[in-house]
Amino acid sequence: MVDREALRQQLMDERGRLNQEIAELDADLSESLEDSTEESPYDQHMAETAAATLDREIELTIQESARAALAQIDRALARLDSGGYGRCEKCGKPIGAARLEVAPFATLCVDCKRAEERQF
Ligand SMILES: [Zn+2]
Repeated sequence: MVDREALRQQLMDERGRLNQEIAELDADLSESLEDSTEESPYDQHMAETAAATLDREIELTIQESARAALAQIDRALARLDSGGYGRCEKCGKPIGAARLEVAPFATLCVDCKRAEERQF
């Protein structure tokens, strides 16, 4: 039997960590946005601007995956409350204790997860 309170705590911890990561990235991103608007359009700034753009793109990608993970944790938490936790969102089969131990926020069973990954 799954210890729901321990699980909820684990999910909430991960959620807090992700929220902090997103907030930090938000701060970085708005900072780099300010930088680029303040910068004068001289040639010597081109390389700097390109590097800043790349940084920004990397940060946006990290932020995007952090947000996706956060949404997944929220779904897992909601399912913990509704009683659907541990069942696959797609096929309704049990996700399996071994998988949940590694990925407590998993909302798909291994088979559906693989099938989803193959689509990309
Ligand atoms: Zn499934």
